[in-house]
Amino acid sequence: MAAKVTKVRCPQCGGEALWSPENKYRPFCSERCKLIDLGAWASEAYRVPVQEETAEPSADFSTPAKPHLPE
Ligand SMILES: [Zn+2]
Repeated sequence: MAAKVTKVRCPQCGGEALWSPENKYRPFCSERCKLIDLGAWASEAYRVPVQEETAEPSADFSTPAKPHLPE
């Protein structure tokens, strides 16, 4: 009897991934593919906002009449 296993395409490597409770990495075929995908995602997710916020913080809006006194 052939086991009833659904196979999906791994979004990372394009290989076959088992879509079953046994495959906790689904829809990826393996832990590695999942980590690669998450890593790529995280680095992009981090990159975009960081670059935007790195752009000079609006100096025009930051406390105009408050000189930084040393004492
Ligand atoms: Zn894969």
